[in-house]
Amino acid sequence: MTYPVLIIGGGLSGLITGIELAKAGLKVLLIERKNYPHHKVCGEYVSNEVRPYLQKLGLDLKKLGVAEITSFRFTSPQGHILDSPLKMGGFGISRYLFDDQLYQLARGAGVEFCLNTTVSQIQWQDDHFKVVTSGGKEFTAEVVVGAYGKRTRLDRELNRDFMEKTSPYMGVKYHIRYDFPKDTIALHNFKNGYCGMSAIEHDKYCLCYLTERSNVKEYGSIPEMERHIMARNPHIYSILREADFIYDNPEVINEVSFAPKKAVVDHVLMAGDAAGLITPLCGNGMAMAIHGGWIVAQEIIHYFQNHRNRQRLEINYTHRWQSQFSTRLWVGRNVQRLFGSEQLSEFALHFFGLLPPVLRMVIRSTHGKPFHG
Ligand SMILES: Cc1cc2nc3c(=O)[nH]c(=O)nc-3n(C[C@H](O)[C@H](O)[C@H](O)COP(=O)(O)OP(=O)(O)OC[C@H]3O[C@@H](n4cnc5c(N)ncnc54)[C@H](O)[C@@H]3O)c2cc1C
Repeated sequence: MTYPVLIIGGGLSGLITGIELAKAGLKVLLIERKNYPHHKVCGEYVSNEVRPYLQKLGLDLKKLGVAEITSFRFTSPQGHILDSPLKMGGFGISRYLFDDQLYQLARGAGVEFCLNTTVSQIQWQDDHFKVVTSGGKEFTAEVVVGAYGKRTRLDRELNRDFMEKTSPYMGVKYHIRYDFPKDTIALHNFKNGYCGMSAIEHDKYCLCYLTERSNVKEYGSIPEMERHIMARNPHIYSILREADFIYDNPEVINEVSFAPKKAVVDHVLMAGDAAGLITPLCGNGMAMAIHGGWIVAQEIIHYFQNHRNRQRLEINYTHRWQSQFSTRLWVGRNVQRLFGSEQLSEFALHFFGLLPPVLRMVIRSTHGKPFHG
């Protein structure tokens, strides 16, 4: 089957790209490895930067019962606290609900889906793509969007530079019930990691952390690592002891890489985390994936409606992506360095506590302006 546009991956960036293209009248196929709804490792705090756009798309956030988040609590490994208002703020929603809502919108807009299907190869030949799935199905497409997330086998197939190095980070997520202000997102630090907690829909909380794998290796398992390393922070200790954990086992991902990436690889237009992942402590990856999905869709629409010049499409998209996101990614990577060691994060907490305008400036530089689409 031949499509003008084929999207690989139906997370936030792929779904938004699909919705925008279908709304513009383009025939789009989206191939997604899983079915909807499904859980995903993510802190589930969405910056209000994309709220106007989501509302314009037709998502009724109030009706979905999202948690409104207006303040930020930062704790050091020893438990010292810094509280700060969040100027732009955000909302909490599970990926289980969020991605599924966008999937429904995408279907309504006319996106064709091929679910429970993994793309295993992308071949470029005669100015077209051949996309092959692990089950042996083949599709051809004029334009391919890679919206398949942080790191997959396709990155190896495409010989992407960041695949040459392993990444030390892993991510772990739970849903819990816990007594904590619903309007606050907490970022609790611990040795070689940090743990976010904020409310989502239905009186639940998302507890999600990023840690270096060496922590888990040292103690042999995730629960042992949580007890021996994370629980040294008294706030995490209370959560682990008192919270009601909703699922038996956490969602876990490995190899979370923040290395710089290219926005176009072998003519594939990368979107969302496949183009670059911001460090989670910025709480902004989802907003970037949504905004990025919108940008790639606008460039593709322009290509089909105006010039049909692939080189121009790739140059325009790369330029737009870099000017929108590359500074934020750089700031995010550098701020994360402050939280690698226990001493540095204690220092950061005292420093930001003494100079709140500096903290506000750092938050501002990892976020964009409200985006309306
Ligand atoms: C620990 C952690 C905490 C985070 N917390 C937050 C937070 O609180 N707030 C925030 O804004 N951001 C957060 N982020 C970042 C955020 O999760 C991502 O930026 C966002 O999910 C990116 O969306 P995406 O669409 O690019 O990728 P994804 O949401 O990962 O979607 C990619 C999709 O592609 C599919 N796929 C993969 N490979 C294939 C294939 N070969 N064939 C077909 N389908 C495929 C996958 O199944 C998946 O559905 C966090 C990230 C981490 C690691």
